[in-house]
Amino acid sequence: MSLENKTAIVTGGSRGIGRAICLALAKAGANVVTCYASSAASADETVRLCEEFGVKALAVAADVSVADDVTKLVDAVKETFGSIDILVNNAGITRDNLLLKMNEADFDQVIDTNLKGAFLCIKGVSKLMLKQRAGKIINISSVVGVRGNAGQVNYSASKAGLIGMTKSVAKELASRGITVNAVAPGFIETDMTAKLPETVIEETMKSIPMRTIGKCEDVANLVTFLASDDARYITGQVICVDGGMAM
Ligand code: NAP
Repeated sequence: MSLENKTAIVTGGSRGIGRAICLALAKAGANVVTCYASSAASADETVRLCEEFGVKALAVAADVSVADDVTKLVDAVKETFGSIDILVNNAGITRDNLLLKMNEADFDQVIDTNLKGAFLCIKGVSKLMLKQRAGKIINISSVVGVRGNAGQVNYSASKAGLIGMTKSVAKELASRGITVNAVAPGFIETDMTAKLPETVIEETMKSIPMRTIGKCEDVANLVTFLASDDARYITGQVICVDGGMAM
């Protein structure tokens, strides 16, 4: 699965799954551009780790929910590398609460980051991908977007929305050589899951047939495959990386 001479944008690559995706793409030979919300030092560390694979890497401070920031990100990639071959919409946040306790600001912030952010990034890269008549777009959804989850009305709506967006954009761009797929991770060991209460972790573990938590690399390996030409005939799909959780 060589990605040599390809350029990838991975949103939210400063930590967790996003960093693992950056490293997996870099290992396969792609130049990587990532963005982050506030963790500049961590994003710089991702860049350093990518460069160890002999590729070029860049970190840009860009909030994916802000259109001007996304334009700045896309322009930086165009200026530095000339092409955009791969977009991974990974940046995401949670603001969990039960429906009756969830405030409007927490609902809006999650939708703006997880769903609108992906829309802005897809729109930002698609002009160039259409011109290239090639491109791979991979949206990081969630098993929660497939089956729902109490306490995550905002998050599950954003992740289910990403699945609808994936299929619609896949239909719009398929004839122009651009594939669009969604990856739906289950329970993966990152900062996002580390902050969950012990009782929630115990309950979640019971719902995983494989009875083990996933690693960031489990997600990154699938993303790398979908970003490669080995996956040329796959589009509009939602693939769970979840130890069987969504079965
Ligand atoms: P994480 O450790 O919390 O990292 C989130 C990343 O997104 C960070 O790099 C963060 O940047 C970035 N980010 C957040 N808001 C942003 C914004 N507005 N603009 C740009 N970047 C932003 O999360 P994770 O667990 O690796 O999750 C990565 C993705 O996988 C998310 O979309 C998440 O919903 C999805 N997912 C995770 C799991 C899981 O079990 N962990 C399961 C299913 C799906 P800063 O470091 O600057 O804050």
